[in-house]
Amino acid sequence: MIATSAAGAAALLGEPARPLRDAEVLSSVTVSLAYPRAAIEHPLDGTGFIVAAAHQAHGFRACTFTTSKFAGRAPAGRVALRLFFRPEPADLEALDDAAWTARAEASLARVLPVRGAAERAWVSRWPSALPVSTPAHAARVREVEQALAGSGVLLAGSAFHGSGIDAAVRSAEATAERIGAL
Ligand SMILES: Cc1cc2nc3c(=O)[nH]c(=O)nc-3n(C[C@H](O)[C@H](O)[C@H](O)COP(=O)(O)OP(=O)(O)OC[C@H]3O[C@@H](n4cnc5c(N)ncnc54)[C@H](O)[C@@H]3O)c2cc1C
Repeated sequence: MIATSAAGAAALLGEPARPLRDAEVLSSVTVSLAYPRAAIEHPLDGTGFIVAAAHQAHGFRACTFTTSKFAGRAPAGRVALRLFFRPEPADLEALDDAAWTARAEASLARVLPVRGAAERAWVSRWPSALPVSTPAHAARVREVEQALAGSGVLLAGSAFHGSGIDAAVRSAEATAERIGAL
């Protein structure tokens, strides 16, 4: 069972998986910010927000109210928020943690009334981590699976069978059943 990225599978499997070399992927940057609770004049009574495409700037797409969703993510009197960016390739290369943190603080302030700078920040870069599921990609995967038929090699995971953890789990379960039937 190959459960890597599409590029990883193409490198491991060689010629039969050649079409996977053309698989499109996107990158992500997340910035987690910690503030004193009193610094944000909003009840944070939800799971977060997404930014409408027409209003996105610098790739800022969404924000999770981490401490509203999960217990124990910050000390009492503090809140944690996680911002999601879809970076331009040049920004992914060039911007350091301080620049991403400043961008995150400014992006958040466009939406929520925030007083002052974040007390702490954590930047995570996820280059080429998000597979793009398109009809063309599904056709590529079908072609490769046909080329691998009978070899005993099976593909699983979100790089092949749909984005997100739920799709990855469904794909893993289906692939495990096929292995059991080999
Ligand atoms: C920032 C971010 C936030 C996300 N948030 C959510 C969310 O809230 N909900 C949700 O449903 N999904 C979310 N996703 C997507 C989710 O993480 C993926 O859909 C899921 O992890 C896919 O699981 P997977 O096992 O298919 O692939 P992955 O988790 O990508 O695992 C593939 C593994 O293959 C390994 N690998 C690659 N090449 C090789 C090789 N040659 N040999 C051996 N190993 C190799 C990699 O190191 C990696 O560990 C998020 C993704 C990112 C980047």
